Amino acid sequence: MAWFKREDKGIITTTQEKKEAPDGIWNKCPNCKKPLHYSEQVENQYVCHYCGFHLRIGSKEYFSVLFDDNQFTELFADLHSGDPLHFTDTKKYSDRLTETKTKTGLTDAIRAGVGKINGQDIVIACMDFNFIGGSMGSVVGEKIARSIDYSIKHKVPFLMISKSGGARMMEAAFSLMQMAKTSAKLALLAQARIPYISLLTDPTTGGVTASYAMLGDINIAEPGALIGFAGPRVIKETIKKDLPKGFQTAEFVQEHGFLDFIVDRREMKEKLASFLKMLAPYGVQEPVAEKEADNS
Ligand SMILES: [Zn+2]
Repeated sequence: MAWFKREDKGIITTTQEKKEAPDGIWNKCPNCKKPLHYSEQVENQYVCHYCGFHLRIGSKEYFSVLFDDNQFTELFADLHSGDPLHFTDTKKYSDRLTETKTKTGLTDAIRAGVGKINGQDIVIACMDFNFIGGSMGSVVGEKIARSIDYSIKHKVPFLMISKSGGARMMEAAFSLMQMAKTSAKLALLAQARIPYISLLTDPTTGGVTASYAMLGDINIAEPGALIGFAGPRVIKETIKKDLPKGFQTAEFVQEHGFLDFIVDRREMKEKLASFLKMLAPYGVQEPVAEKEADNS
């Protein structure tokens, strides 16, 4: 039996009069396929409330989840990528940049801001996957380097949220150089005794995993995040062996000693705030060895 019965025949609605559901109000969970209402997603920190799947989000959403009252000052917002190699693949790199900027409203695959987490100062740099696959080019590296300088100058802890397909091939060596540059800056941050927390989200791969993402004083990840260097297909073809189940998930990576914690996004802010409290005060303690030398 049909649920609805059409009593009047020949009803015609013109296209102009047809009502449509507004775009973006509903979203489907990529894991359990259940419909998620936009306002519920925001309330639940963009985690599916049916299955706990962590939806992929960008810097705008991470900032709103983490900064107190979504209040922060954006840092180094005016950095733009050049096209030093005049690179062309399916299209010119310069055209790709212009198009992506218009489409996403972002200037590159990263944004940085300074604000507070439960009243404690923090600098957060967060990658955006929508911008050319969250690829690490010279702007990404430079913004991280300058954010670290800012952290050192103002004695504020640094949180890096990684989400990346790896190096930006259109910038070739200029992109790969960022691995060394950011790692060197992080060494200066450690020397200044300012905490660095690295948060790896889905996906964190390639040169980003091989540099700043794995160098945190505390390395944490979101549940189920893909974390690796090369993709599973490449590894399988190289070692000619089947890969273990769950290979390159945050859980697998943690079990093998590369991560300290896996934290649910809904508890992330509280967890980060407690880490910061534990590590405070920053940049003032003398190294233990020096203290001992003074006492003798
Ligand atoms: Zn779900």
